[in-house]
Amino acid sequence: MKIAFCSAEVAPFSQAGGLGDVIGSLPRAIAEQQDTQVVIITPLYGLVDTAAHRLEKTDIAFGVHFHGKTYPISIWQGVLPRSEVPVYFVDNYDLFGSRKQVYPYGQPEWELEGFLVFNQAVFELLRRVHYRPDVLHVHDWHTGSIATTLAEIRPYDQYFSRTKSVLTIHNLHYQGLYGDINWLKEGILKADAITTVSPTYAQEIQTPEFGAGMDAIIRDVSGKVSGILNGIDTTLYNPETDAFITAHYNRSNFAEGKHRNKEALQVEMGLPVDSEAPLLGFIGRLADQKGLDLILPTMKALEADGHKCQWVLLGTGDPKMEEALKALNAKSQNIRSFIGFNTAMAQKIYAASDMFVMPSAFEPCGLGQLISLRYGAVPIVRGVGGLVDTITDVRNQPHRGNGFKFAEYSAAKLKENVLAAVEYYHNKSLWAELVTRGMEEDHSWKPSAEAYKVLYQRLAHPAPVSA
Ligand code: ADP
Repeated sequence: MKIAFCSAEVAPFSQAGGLGDVIGSLPRAIAEQQDTQVVIITPLYGLVDTAAHRLEKTDIAFGVHFHGKTYPISIWQGVLPRSEVPVYFVDNYDLFGSRKQVYPYGQPEWELEGFLVFNQAVFELLRRVHYRPDVLHVHDWHTGSIATTLAEIRPYDQYFSRTKSVLTIHNLHYQGLYGDINWLKEGILKADAITTVSPTYAQEIQTPEFGAGMDAIIRDVSGKVSGILNGIDTTLYNPETDAFITAHYNRSNFAEGKHRNKEALQVEMGLPVDSEAPLLGFIGRLADQKGLDLILPTMKALEADGHKCQWVLLGTGDPKMEEALKALNAKSQNIRSFIGFNTAMAQKIYAASDMFVMPSAFEPCGLGQLISLRYGAVPIVRGVGGLVDTITDVRNQPHRGNGFKFAEYSAAKLKENVLAAVEYYHNKSLWAELVTRGMEEDHSWKPSAEAYKVLYQRLAHPAPVSA
């Protein structure tokens, strides 16, 4: 079985959020399944460090005709770290090479042109490398139009006549809406199967509350929609080996390890060095979805009430939110923000934090809570999407719970939950039980890779229709 992943982001080459994580790790787990081959195709943005990743320019070059222009394309090749999965990079300087960000903020035409040309290039590239996929697995709106093109060409194009498409929706709120074309919607209608990144999100997007205007369309095709929970790369995210953190630890010695990482982060960020003060972390794209409008008033209210919580926030995105976070540094000695996409800083925060907050308005899966569980930072989340599927509130299930979870989207609820977590934190034995239970959980990719394989097999070899 041959699978081709096509994505706007692939960690560690390029990343803006969870999509990069997923495409940087799921293909490896799929390639580890028996009789499965995977390749990844992605644009070569200017931000990709070709030398550090040892990418090589191949001699494959061709032109893509699009809207009356011909775009010269050349192909680079690399390998997904710790695997043999080939990664092909589609190179065109004007469209990608000159981009310093995966998604050019405020330049929608440039972004759209780039992804549509990329999507055409994918078909030619697959021919040139003699890789005829059983399944083209595309992700979000950026590569969604590949499913549309595939459906159009399949009846007469021998090469792709048996290829099927899977479109995974990582976030329904980004739809690629340009003029009267909604690129995600086109992909949803034409893909052979749709997956979302958690079972709960697969249900939620069929409701007006979470459907982002697409719920009716998704309900119409609900027979081909399913949810497969994301995992994390447990080799990369491992507090026993993580090269970015000050002290390594595991579930048996986490108290000492986290204590040392916390102290190091407090020093680095200029926070008071205090091992008793609970340290709360936030890492995420600065977008409305992530609930910063709850976090900011909660931090303020807790400080006003005299609670000595410390906060470290890491993010990049909406320029207004970046400004708001930067301003916090001067306002409180207990709050520090760091603006930018910084993997090393992220891992230091996961390792140092006692708690990790994700009060999302919606959350297709969420990786932050899975990584924080692995690093022994107890998640405090709003129960939506993948957060429903992965976090169990310890107050309801004292022997199974792994975090704190609330329903109402309000700063008052977040504050109430932070306070509940802080109370728990001060009970050393209860806290140790909660942290170790989270650290013991297995959120590796294996079960998801198996579920994807079952789906690919069903598409590639459909059961005969009985008379
Ligand atoms: P989303 O996909 O909505 O961006 P997820 O929680 O699914 O959110 O995944 C976010 C991933 O990106 C996590 O691995 C998180 O650690 C990482 N991340 C987000 N923002 C940053 C940042 N500013 N610096 C480093 N890593 C980040």
